[in-house]
Amino acid sequence: MKVTDHLQNAKSTLFSIEILPPLKGKSIQSIFDSIDPLMEFKPSFIDVTYHREEYLYKKRDGGYLEKVSIRKRPGTVGICAALMNKYRVDAIPHIICGGFSIEETENALIDLQFLGIDNVLALRGDSIKTEPTFVPEPNGHPYALDLVKQIVRMNKGHYLEDELREVAPTNFCIGVAGYPEKHFESPNMIADMKHLKAKIDGGAHYIVTQMFFDNPRFLEFSKMCKDMGINVPIIPGIKILTTKKQAVLLPKTFKIDVPQALLEEIEKCKTDAEVKEVGIRWAIMQCKELIKQGVPCLHFYTMGVSDATRRVASEVF
Ligand code: FAD
Repeated sequence: MKVTDHLQNAKSTLFSIEILPPLKGKSIQSIFDSIDPLMEFKPSFIDVTYHREEYLYKKRDGGYLEKVSIRKRPGTVGICAALMNKYRVDAIPHIICGGFSIEETENALIDLQFLGIDNVLALRGDSIKTEPTFVPEPNGHPYALDLVKQIVRMNKGHYLEDELREVAPTNFCIGVAGYPEKHFESPNMIADMKHLKAKIDGGAHYIVTQMFFDNPRFLEFSKMCKDMGINVPIIPGIKILTTKKQAVLLPKTFKIDVPQALLEEIEKCKTDAEVKEVGIRWAIMQCKELIKQGVPCLHFYTMGVSDATRRVASEVF
């Protein structure tokens, strides 16, 4: 079922989660173990992230360095199929521009259609870790907007080969990313919002936000969307802070702020167990307030750990 249908049929705020594929070589059981404790809250959908290749330099005989491409977390599509099969839940693969030519994207979307996947989250992806800026593949998409447009074309039955006859259109509901604290590459918030609006005008059906700890930033973002004529559902992304290290790492990785009031609480903690309690209390406060503000769904970034999400969900739903 499409995310937009889930949201339309909802009688109260929905619960959804995002998970990461396990590291290469690890069993899918680790995914099931992290999801099982959350199934009692009936997630309407489960997002599965996509992780592109990275480059490593390996020392070879004779002392020369060989550049090797590896993917640390493959398996996005396989996990989606496994989740749908095991839990009868809608699984949403993230699909990115980085590393894909438009033909590869088309073929990937055909696979998803054949698996009965109704939704995709269309993203540009970040640059390769060892490269300073995002570089699209030759004949690949430079921005998420271009990926959205390709999916919209396929939804209308237009594949890359014009001469195909009697084609089956795809029927994907398309989500895109939004940034309440601005995407880090954008010169300012308005420029970023214009690009977000272009993705919606291009045919995307809903927005999922980057994680944030500061509800006023999200509410301001939602208001800006409304003022600019963005009328699709906006799903807030919630991350529960559970260690002291995360207070430094999350802002660095996701270019978000930790509010001073939360930081002061964290700084008082002597152990990570105490930080986790602070993080859980903060997330409960955030979620209750967001529900009051009428958000359609709360989307939890579990990062493979379910305990804190379970504690928050049992207080909030
Ligand atoms: P875009 O919408 O293309 O925007 C990228 C930047 O370019 C922005 O600064 C935008 O303002 C700017 N821009 C857009 N169009 C133009 C234009 N025409 N001219 C100039 N500038 C322009 N990454 C992964 O690799 N895998 C994942 O699974 C994944 N999941 C995510 C889930 C969510 C909910 C979010 C919020 C992010 C996720 N990401 C993921 C990270 C995402 O790929 C990065 O944030 C990436 O840097 C931007 O992706 P985007 O889709 O927002 O890009």
